[in-house]
Amino acid sequence: MDSHPKCSFSRPIIVISRCLGFDNCRYDGEIVQFPLAETLKPFVEFIDVCPEYDIGLGIPREPIVIIEDIDDINRKLIQPATGLDLTDKMEAFSHLYLEKRDDFHGFILKSKSPSCGVGTTKVFPDAGTDEYIHHEGNGFFAETILQNYPDIPVIDEEQIKDPVKCDHFLTRVFVMASFMDACASCKIHALVEFHTANKLLFMAHNKQMMTAMGNIVANRTNIPVEKVYEDYTEHLMEIISEAPQSGSVINAFMHAFGYFSRHLSAPEKFGFMQQLQKLRKDASVIFELKAWFREMSEKYNVEYLLRQTFFCPYPPELSLP
Ligand code: SF4
Repeated sequence: MDSHPKCSFSRPIIVISRCLGFDNCRYDGEIVQFPLAETLKPFVEFIDVCPEYDIGLGIPREPIVIIEDIDDINRKLIQPATGLDLTDKMEAFSHLYLEKRDDFHGFILKSKSPSCGVGTTKVFPDAGTDEYIHHEGNGFFAETILQNYPDIPVIDEEQIKDPVKCDHFLTRVFVMASFMDACASCKIHALVEFHTANKLLFMAHNKQMMTAMGNIVANRTNIPVEKVYEDYTEHLMEIISEAPQSGSVINAFMHAFGYFSRHLSAPEKFGFMQQLQKLRKDASVIFELKAWFREMSEKYNVEYLLRQTFFCPYPPELSLP
């Protein structure tokens, strides 16, 4: 098992659709097998939710669908078999649920559901027809999350099968959990430590913004620490919101390479350069490169690199390929 003794990890809070391995709560009384939940359980705090069950629909229940009026873009949540309009109930539940607890770091939701789907839910023009409207949309619960928490990562059980998307999701939730711990202390030294450990990760996303964040932490104008945290939070949310581009990732690797390249033979250096070239075409090469950097950092005892979250953003037990 890969290990990385210099990194410690905060425990993120993840809200998850209950049918993803937690309970037989689907409309037909089924459960969705989702082994990743078991893998994640020792490292995250899961809060499972089933909006349809929680608004009082039983198990099993008649299916519900989203109906959209094309003219005024009115969306409704309808149970065609009973004619029930569940729109207000579901919207009220979603808002209340999210208001009650807002310390979560991410959401893993069930795709295609009229409640939980993220961009994959069929939207119908009229109850009881199979005719597709021109698009797939968000379920009602998911829509409330996306509108109210645009900075919190949301992924579904299909997207998370993609190693690069999964890596980005896990990186965001673990970085945010660790940042929240620093925020709780509201001490500048905690922010300095956080920034130092994440420097390469931020460089791999956006070097300019990483520098700006460093300047915020340096606080040369002595602004109140609360304001420092506020400014830093804005930048942090933005810098990790998008998956990093290969050019910036390569720059971060090149920067890190300088810490031990003098120890390497010519073939080892050549092998590294070849991997970087591959990375331009295949984002998944990043996993092999990070593993190699972890190995080299330990071999040559490069303390700075061993503490960088870039090479180990979440527990190694969750490491992809
Ligand atoms: S998709 Fe959401 S609402 Fe539907 S069964 Fe799963 S958790 Fe419940």
